[in-house]
Amino acid sequence: MINDTIVAIATPPGEGGISSIRISGREAFVISDKIFNTKNGESLACRPGYTAAYGNVYDGENLLDDGVALIFRAPKSYTGEDTVEISVHGGDFLIKQVLRAAAKAGARIAQGGEFTKRAFENGKISLTQAESVMQIISARGSQALRLAARNKEGALSKVIEKITSKLLFLVSQISVFSDFPEDETLMIDEEDFIFSLNEIINDLDTLISNYDKGKYLIGGINTAIVGSPNAGKSTLMNLLSKTERSIVTPIAGTTRDIIEETVQTGEFTLKLADTAGIRKTGDEVEKIGVDAALKRLENADLCLGVFDISKPPEAADKELVLRLSGRPSLLVLNKNDLEDKSEGYFEKLSLPFVKISAKEGIGEEALNEKIKEVLKINELDQNSDILGSERQYQKVVTAKNSATEALSALKGGVTLDAVGILIDEALSSLLELEGKRITTEVADEVFKNFCVGK
Ligand code: GDP
Repeated sequence: MINDTIVAIATPPGEGGISSIRISGREAFVISDKIFNTKNGESLACRPGYTAAYGNVYDGENLLDDGVALIFRAPKSYTGEDTVEISVHGGDFLIKQVLRAAAKAGARIAQGGEFTKRAFENGKISLTQAESVMQIISARGSQALRLAARNKEGALSKVIEKITSKLLFLVSQISVFSDFPEDETLMIDEEDFIFSLNEIINDLDTLISNYDKGKYLIGGINTAIVGSPNAGKSTLMNLLSKTERSIVTPIAGTTRDIIEETVQTGEFTLKLADTAGIRKTGDEVEKIGVDAALKRLENADLCLGVFDISKPPEAADKELVLRLSGRPSLLVLNKNDLEDKSEGYFEKLSLPFVKISAKEGIGEEALNEKIKEVLKINELDQNSDILGSERQYQKVVTAKNSATEALSALKGGVTLDAVGILIDEALSSLLELEGKRITTEVADEVFKNFCVGK
């Protein structure tokens, strides 16, 4: 039921300056008045929006703490409903007591993402904006935050709306023509029509290719670090993560499990996996690690192939190079602080490479630059509009496919009615993207990833 009143703790767990609960819905003021007594005795229900009141918080007769209530009146609140935020001193036990008091007073404990879902359902934000709220919360790097904030402000929604209105215009042209096929003044200029359709396909294409480059800034880069034992994979991982998570040891074959670590390097996040050294082995346990390493390599956004250039390349190195070609990969020529005995083998290949010394911490910046080059992140315009999720991406791909089909149908002489169906499909896909045509399942899927209280 959309109109019941929900409550949740809005601040993270743990001790801190303040903790707060948020109450939203038709009964927000009535419920708040049951647990919050203002110092001057005035009811919260009588106070104007955007004001704060100081008072005591009660669970029935029991005084819990003193605190501050912030008043937001519908529709001028995050959810678009009457909302009260009550802040008390920051303590886990205390805030749970306040939450319980609100629940006893008639509020229902909210599910994850329910506040944002209400904002969407009440027309405060579009679905792409709602998704960007989630990204703002989970942003780890400056670029990810910048993109999410742009989308939250509606930059992406505007782009989608522009394409949507172009499609709507084409659909309406076709339906008018179909309704009055005899009227010559309503004839469709095929050249103009094809021009518009091409424009739409180009716009969608730009969104698709920006996402291909920009998704790494948003979701991080799934990175596999691979290489022979002792090449320096763990040392590289430690350098990048600035911790001692991986066990660095000179005995070959000691890194048996995949160790995962998320590190922020420069503008982007690497989701690193330090894997068992890839080599032929009779040791069963080690073999499992090697198999896992190969699998990781297959699915990675980026493979960092680490090679020890202080010795001549071995057969295993050459084999790995073959595995890496054709993938988004970078050869990391390590131990550059020692004498180079690699006979220029790696440099002669047509794969991107960078020379570093993981142990001495030399070449980290060059490595970052090369990663951007390999993933084409550096081709991305700083002001590009980038789709915020795989869901949005899939909708744009579907829209583009339908529009492209419509174009070739039109050129192939198919009837306008049939072309219209394809254009309508493209339109539907974009409307679904923005949540303007949406099933409950899609909405639930989008909001289920939110934390409670948001
Ligand atoms: P892994 O098996 O590929 O994970 O290799 P490790 O990171 O465990 O490194 C193997 C050995 O090489 C260790 O003794 C490291 O200290 C050493 N090592 C790693 N990187 C460098 C480097 O850049 N220069 C030098 N001189 N030694 C390195």
